[in-house]
Amino acid sequence: MQSLALNGGNPVRESKISYGRQYIDEDDIKAVSDILRHEPLTTGPMIGKCEEELCRLTGAKYAVLISNGTAALHAACYAAGIGSGDEVIVSPLTFAASANCVLYCGGTPVFADINEKTWNISPESIESLVTEKTKAIIAVDFTGQAVQLNEIQDICKRHNLILIEDAAHSIGTMYHDKYIGNIADLTTFSFHPVKTITSGEGGAILTNNKEYYDKLIRFRSHGITREPGLFVNEWDGIPYYEQIELGYNYRMTDIQAALLKSQFNKINIFAKRRFEIVDMYNKAFADLKGVEIQTEIPESKSVRHLYILRFKLDKLNTTRKQIYDALYAENICCNIHYIPVYYHPYYTELGYKKGLCPIAEQVYEEILTLPLYYSMTDQDVLDVINAVKKVVSYYGG
Ligand SMILES: *Cc1c(COP(=O)(O)O)cnc(C)c1O
Repeated sequence: MQSLALNGGNPVRESKISYGRQYIDEDDIKAVSDILRHEPLTTGPMIGKCEEELCRLTGAKYAVLISNGTAALHAACYAAGIGSGDEVIVSPLTFAASANCVLYCGGTPVFADINEKTWNISPESIESLVTEKTKAIIAVDFTGQAVQLNEIQDICKRHNLILIEDAAHSIGTMYHDKYIGNIADLTTFSFHPVKTITSGEGGAILTNNKEYYDKLIRFRSHGITREPGLFVNEWDGIPYYEQIELGYNYRMTDIQAALLKSQFNKINIFAKRRFEIVDMYNKAFADLKGVEIQTEIPESKSVRHLYILRFKLDKLNTTRKQIYDALYAENICCNIHYIPVYYHPYYTELGYKKGLCPIAEQVYEEILTLPLYYSMTDQDVLDVINAVKKVVSYYGG
């Protein structure tokens, strides 16, 4: 058996590799500098061009670019009409923003448990939590795998609920023959640098519903309209606008949109490389004792944003902390996605308690996120595989 770097042995590689990073090329740099040279810096033509591109890419009728993925979720909750007294069913194994957006609107997040194998929100758990007060479901495509959309849409139909899909991880993913973005009532994307494509900070909401679209457009910019047909007061033709609801300044700049538009050109090669890496990992880990890979439903052709491995601690003679440290010493920097949202002190203060979602809690205790990004070489991937095998076998896997 090889000696672990943690115990003074040689690490599997010399330089550190992190769990995710953006890929920026000369075309991206030129796209951004062109905006800086020619203006406008914000609310210019790049915004509309990116929105068209998102519609073309997904098949959705409408797309609204917005300042980030969290603002996209806030806007989606607003358009869905979520307010005080409304319950919204959310996955606990996600970034806090997926539930915070409900609080922004005065609603109450209700956490449904996940499926033990796919790690996505469980339709059975959703169904068991629906009450008279339930208004919507926010389903997160965890790691890029589509949730069980048919089953969840069925629940929505039966109980008259709105489906918001938090697709921060899943741009490019297909469910059956449709792209994510063209299925749920409202779908949100994030273009943060760790996501599949980036604009620095950025997000979008997609919908096929004109009413939602009109609300989203106003919400992004203070609730202000410049359409004379919507004016409440009389207008004599001089420059004029009216604020007809409460919105925010959630606009994206053209500098960011130019970067995003340039990144769209690479989305297919990004996706292809992510498929390849996930395939290499899955083949290497599928039969490795002591670990479990994420099960994929056949309906989802997933462009994966994260690669997460579950370490079965009942089969290994160690702790997750020790596995994390051992991989770090091998120069593989892992991460954890995610701390169950209701573990955060802010949520405990609101009255949420441990034990709400036992499966999510158990999965959380045993997961680590391995490196996955476009520019990883085959050797990088092999280094990660070798390090995991080395560490797992050392601890009895
Ligand atoms: C990244 C992320 C968000 C938030 O996106 P930002 O652009 O960082 O605001 C929301 N939900 C999930 C699941 C995410 O991963």
